[in-house]
Amino acid sequence: MTAGISTDRQQPARSSEPVPFLDISGATADVVAEVRLGWDEVLRTGQYVGGAAVTRFEQEWAQYCGTDFAVGVANGTDALHLAMRALGIGPGDEVIVPANTFVATAEAVVLAGGVPRFADVDDGTLLLTAETIKAAVTPATKAVAVVHLYGQLPDMTAISQICEELGLILIEDAAQAQGATWDGKKAGSFGAVGCFSFYPGKNLGAFGDAGAVVTSDPKLTDLMLSIRDHGRMQSAGGHYSHGVLGMNSRLDGVQAVVLSAKLRHLDEWNQQRRALMATYRELIDPERAKLVEQLEDGEGVHHLAVVQVDQRDRVRELLAERGIGTGIHYPVPCHVMGPYAQYADGPLPVAEAAAARQLSLPMFPHLSQDDARRVAEGLNEVLAELDR
Ligand SMILES: *Cc1c(COP(=O)(O)O)cnc(C)c1O
Repeated sequence: MTAGISTDRQQPARSSEPVPFLDISGATADVVAEVRLGWDEVLRTGQYVGGAAVTRFEQEWAQYCGTDFAVGVANGTDALHLAMRALGIGPGDEVIVPANTFVATAEAVVLAGGVPRFADVDDGTLLLTAETIKAAVTPATKAVAVVHLYGQLPDMTAISQICEELGLILIEDAAQAQGATWDGKKAGSFGAVGCFSFYPGKNLGAFGDAGAVVTSDPKLTDLMLSIRDHGRMQSAGGHYSHGVLGMNSRLDGVQAVVLSAKLRHLDEWNQQRRALMATYRELIDPERAKLVEQLEDGEGVHHLAVVQVDQRDRVRELLAERGIGTGIHYPVPCHVMGPYAQYADGPLPVAEAAAARQLSLPMFPHLSQDDARRVAEGLNEVLAELDR
């Protein structure tokens, strides 16, 4: 590769620079000055766990999502686990989850003491549908955990309706969908609860772990505030009154400052993601790569840009050789993973086929349109080459 040095010099610098799968440094740069000011205030007051910055972010986040309340917690998995416990999910209760999701959705059901029941997904969107939910329902089903995977809501009109008909609690795993909408309504505002992760790489990300649950139920909010803080019931007498089984899942002031600062950029960043997705949709060869379909009644926020391709692992290697980073979300469906296989009830063909074919292209708001074009063209070339 020594000859590469002189070749590189003759080419325009841009085209030889690698395109990373994810780079969050641009988002950090957008907020760093405001974060430093907010952190000064946290240091001055010493309110590190909870406190004014957390309360402020909780109010802002509830308002943004169109719900009455938000409860800040330590991470997205806790948001799901804590919400499920507050909703009374326990031993013997089945919660339907998609087989194609990040493991935390199923993990939270088991942590809460429930039983995950895996449902298949639609081949176009790779999301749950009312039909795949219906196919997974049993007399023990208590809830459905819908996942807005890759930043898109499934048909929430149909899913809300089926949950209502069958008396199932609707839980939203909106960890990848901050700001996404269905029929003009925000992710997190459809279910009994909407659960968010603010892991650094999410559309709204902290400088560490963080999460939140949104709801418009005041009683559920009180219970979740108690569970996140060792089951403390302030109304029942204070600091050492532990009226319910709790856990420790509180949000830190330093993270809340970051989230408030970034929230002011979220809509603009999501808009940039949409513009990059439009470029992928325009340029990527639909005969050889199948981009995840977008449903008409929703507006996605493209946490991930996922295509389904043949020979996925080979495509990934060839893109890497061209300096294009990619990811796989997710290579193994949950119902075949070690700890969850015991809950599986037969094959789920769409999720299983997708796991072998899905590939995530670079997607973050500070990715340039030039780089998105290079990714699309690189992908087309690689796929054409493999077709020969
Ligand atoms: C990130 C993520 C979670 C878990 O969030 P953590 O903050 O990492 O615990 C849950 N569900 C989905 C779909 C996610 O993408």
